[in-house]
Amino acid sequence: KLIRKAQDNNIAVVLIQSDPDMDSVPVDMLGPNDRVVCIGGNTPDESYLNAKSVLRIAAHEGVDALHPGIGFLSESSQFAALCGNNDINFVGPPVSSMETMGNKSNAINTAIRVDVPVVPGSHGILTSSANAASIAEDIGYPVLLKAVHGGGGKGIQVVESADRIHALFHQISTEAKAAFGNGDVYLEKYVTSLRHIEVQVLRDRHGNTKILGLRDCSVQRNNQKIFEESGSTMLPKELEESAYNFAKKLSDAVEYVGAGTVEFIFDLDSMAIYFMEMNTRLQVEHPVTELVSGIDIVSTQFRIAEGDSIKDLAPVAKGYAIEVRINAEKAVLKNDAVEFVPTPGNIRECVLPEQDYIEIISMAAPGKQVSPFYDSMVAQIICYGTDRNDTIRKLRDYLETTKITGVCTNIPLLKRVLDDEVFVGGTYDTTYLPRFLKRIDSDALIHDIEQAADMNADAVDASQLRIEGSNELKVLSPSTSIFYGSSSPSEPAFVKEGDVIDVSQTLCLMEAMKMFTPLTLKQFNRSGAELYSKNQKFRVTRILNSDGQQVNQGDLLFVVKPETAV
Ligand code: ADP
Ligand code: ADP
Ligand code: MG
Repeated sequence: KLIRKAQDNNIAVVLIQSDPDMDSVPVDMLGPNDRVVCIGGNTPDESYLNAKSVLRIAAHEGVDALHPGIGFLSESSQFAALCGNNDINFVGPPVSSMETMGNKSNAINTAIRVDVPVVPGSHGILTSSANAASIAEDIGYPVLLKAVHGGGGKGIQVVESADRIHALFHQISTEAKAAFGNGDVYLEKYVTSLRHIEVQVLRDRHGNTKILGLRDCSVQRNNQKIFEESGSTMLPKELEESAYNFAKKLSDAVEYVGAGTVEFIFDLDSMAIYFMEMNTRLQVEHPVTELVSGIDIVSTQFRIAEGDSIKDLAPVAKGYAIEVRINAEKAVLKNDAVEFVPTPGNIRECVLPEQDYIEIISMAAPGKQVSPFYDSMVAQIICYGTDRNDTIRKLRDYLETTKITGVCTNIPLLKRVLDDEVFVGGTYDTTYLPRFLKRIDSDALIHDIEQAADMNADAVDASQLRIEGSNELKVLSPSTSIFYGSSSPSEPAFVKEGDVIDVSQTLCLMEAMKMFTPLTLKQFNRSGAELYSKNQKFRVTRILNSDGQQVNQGDLLFVVKPETAV
């Protein structure tokens, strides 16, 4: 999207890509005036989060401005400051607004200062687990512990009762320190029935604030958005107006510049809205608002960064838009509940037809890799219609024309939601998706997802596993992942060469997108196709990989030898 918009505005692009992304879709989009520079490395820490390397490339290429994108360093005030110190125009807000709003606890205090309602809670950093327990006692359980620098649905923990608060406080603070570099945690009341409402703001350096409209992102799983809509089926008009006023007040209070989103909790029990957080960057779901407001948000970001005034910008409200996020993931059953597991790999076919009522932002194309190192979102599909029903119908029909094979995607889930009476009816809260997953036929969903990906085309049969001239069997990687032979560097390996194991023994951990899945021989067995007999023991004769190594789907991981029963 950013490349397309830069090209529309005659801005030459220097695209920074990591090693696995050097043949990505964005690289293919570059024109004769654009360049790609490899930052090296695989993991986000080695590549996109390496601020010094990004700046070194920017300086070497002599860029005037830097658009930080939507993830990674985009909300880092330190990075924005480094850009400023190096005479690079950071396409985003001033460092001071980022510092205030980027820290969720500071943001809440700012909201209180300008009379914007917030959820009851600590309204500041917790000093100890005892402090957390005492505030939780006052406001009543359940409560949420939130990392001040959390994001992307991570760094949030529900605490149901007092006996868990001490342990969970320490856990989330340790996790937040590791994940976000800051272990500070605050606490707020857990709102049990809510809609996620957010307001899109644009503000220039001359103090002009434009409210472009709202989005409802209540169809979520694990606090992550899957559907985003340009309207809310449940928010009354007066509360919508209040949300706009609150968003304006906050943006003015921190002298915000650029595109930003103010997120609110719409509490369905008290019919009130509360400030939740502000995202000081472009958001994934911004196209929803572009379609209905008629404002090109990304081009306006560039204009604002150039110092232009947006005084004359006149957003409208026309039609209705819905975005769905297509993730490379498969559904699995865990303790009777459907969960989604990222599935990196190679995309074989990818059909996302062009339509005038559809905008597509996609990293997916035939032959492209979904890397195990990054987020599992591979495409965003945004549909425009006259009203909500029209948009739902068009999007549903459109999804029928799409096809992605080689990796599993959530498209079959998206279709089911669009067919669902409750979703179409519009009366639900953020618990909608987990409840929906409980009431649908989960086996059929799991089957459809695998069927749509046409994974059978890659399936191996027993004869391909046999090592010629022996009775040894290969164990091939079921997915593209990062290999770990033990649960942590200080722990012993799950298996050593020479060990005799059964089919349920963990052989290694396979990591994709920060999710670790243990690998056993058992999981290769399908009904009617038992590759490794469960009545048999196996001797591990070879281990081919070392910790942290990337393995592709089909790579040889282990060799095992059936042990003859004595
Ligand atoms: P939005 O609120 O814009 O929908 P998300 O919270 O889903 O945004 O995050 C936007 C993108 O940034 C996603 O692709 C997500 O994986 C990525 N992202 C979010 N937080 C981080 C982080 N701490 N480090 C790296 N990437 C992140
Ligand atoms: P992130 O930075 O990960 O986007 P948010 O603070 O925006 O974190 O919260 C993410 C999601 O978690 C929200 O969209 C909402 O569904 C849920 N959530 C956040 N705060 C509360 C709360 N106080 N009560 C209940 N749910 C909440
Ligand atoms: Mg949020």
